[in-house]
Amino acid sequence: MEHFSVIVLGGGTMGSAAAWALGKRGVRALVLEQYRHVHTMGSHGGRTRIIRHAYAESPDYVPLVQRADALWQELEAEAGDRILYRTGGLDLAAPGFAHARDARSSAEQFGLPFDWLDGVEVRHRWPVWNVGDDWEACYSPQAGYLAVEPGLRALAAGARRLGATVSEEECVREWHLDGAGVRIGTDRTTYTADRLIITAGAWSGQVLAELGLPLTVLRKTLWWFDLDDPALFAPDRFPVFITESEAGEIYGFPADEHGRLKVAAHSGGEPTDPQTVDRQTHAGEHRDVLGTAQRVLKGVSNRLVESSVCLYTMTPDTDFIVDRLPESPHVVIGAGFSGHGFKFATAIGEELASLALDPTAAPLPRLALSRFSALV
Ligand SMILES: Cc1cc2nc3c(=O)[nH]c(=O)nc-3n(C[C@H](O)[C@H](O)[C@H](O)COP(=O)(O)OP(=O)(O)OC[C@H]3O[C@@H](n4cnc5c(N)ncnc54)[C@H](O)[C@@H]3O)c2cc1C
Repeated sequence: MEHFSVIVLGGGTMGSAAAWALGKRGVRALVLEQYRHVHTMGSHGGRTRIIRHAYAESPDYVPLVQRADALWQELEAEAGDRILYRTGGLDLAAPGFAHARDARSSAEQFGLPFDWLDGVEVRHRWPVWNVGDDWEACYSPQAGYLAVEPGLRALAAGARRLGATVSEEECVREWHLDGAGVRIGTDRTTYTADRLIITAGAWSGQVLAELGLPLTVLRKTLWWFDLDDPALFAPDRFPVFITESEAGEIYGFPADEHGRLKVAAHSGGEPTDPQTVDRQTHAGEHRDVLGTAQRVLKGVSNRLVESSVCLYTMTPDTDFIVDRLPESPHVVIGAGFSGHGFKFATAIGEELASLALDPTAAPLPRLALSRFSALV
């Protein structure tokens, strides 16, 4: 039976980042991934992810994204592949909605660069925007997007260079505490390890069924539309964006290499199960997102050219879970990334590695399991 000091269960976003972080600390981890490394069955499909620092959700996340950003840059330099595209970002809010103010308040608290704009100024700077005069916007020059596949491939390559094994198409069927360690049964074999890091994404509820974590998986859809004039949406003149209005939260990206706009709703989504989720999109399902995009942006055509389904794993408070198991401190979990985890992955990898390796490391209070007091 092969033994490892650390096994990572789930080689997606957070598992790949944890393996890189473990490698940097001299630990040669085994990563077990049920599919091929980088796939569309979990939470990292759809090619791009927004990174923003003026964090509307809470200023508590700002130091984490600053650390993650530095590590994405380090990874990019190491890999020699472009991962981070700094296009600037717009957090917009219709009258009566707080998203833009919340972003500004995080920026102010941490001295981040930003421009505070009303709708008139937004339309002046980016003529494709069609918001009312009384909208508010926080423009952040540091924001942009991360390319998912180059990012995850670079994490895995970095981890492998530092001694990790990433085993693809190997599904963990069971794991048990085994004395001071763990025993892990896969569809191929059994391993033992001193420590286990569980980063199973949308499958975390199943993998940790006995813990009864308050996780809900949501089916989310992504849409790509042709643009009348893609040049007006080019990455050097059109920032990533999130708008909050009566229509919920809609976000989007500059035109991709085919001149198409990717846009999606952050709010909403049907509760589902990763094993049985409907992975097809259906006629008419894009109507609300397209309607909102066409109301606030000029030149978004009705031509739907691509779509995909992706999974959010929500906690009740939308904060992540990054902690040790209360009764088994050699088991660490990173779960419940609630549709906003990707940008933080490199920093979360470090947190997971230090919780696994350093008995004195404490979880970040906002991400600790103890907040679900019934569990501990
Ligand atoms: C549509 C969409 C848009 C998003 N947009 C953004 C954004 O703009 N910015 C942002 O920061 N975040 C965004 N996110 C969120 C971000 O992508 C996720 O928070 C992040 O990818 C979650 O990482 P994860 O490692 O938990 O899950 P995953 O990347 O899915 O990894 C989990 C892995 O575990 C594997 N696994 C599970 N069970 C087993 C098992 N038993 N054996 C072996 N392997 C197993 C799975 O196959 C999977 O590869 C978005 C998410 C979605 C779905």
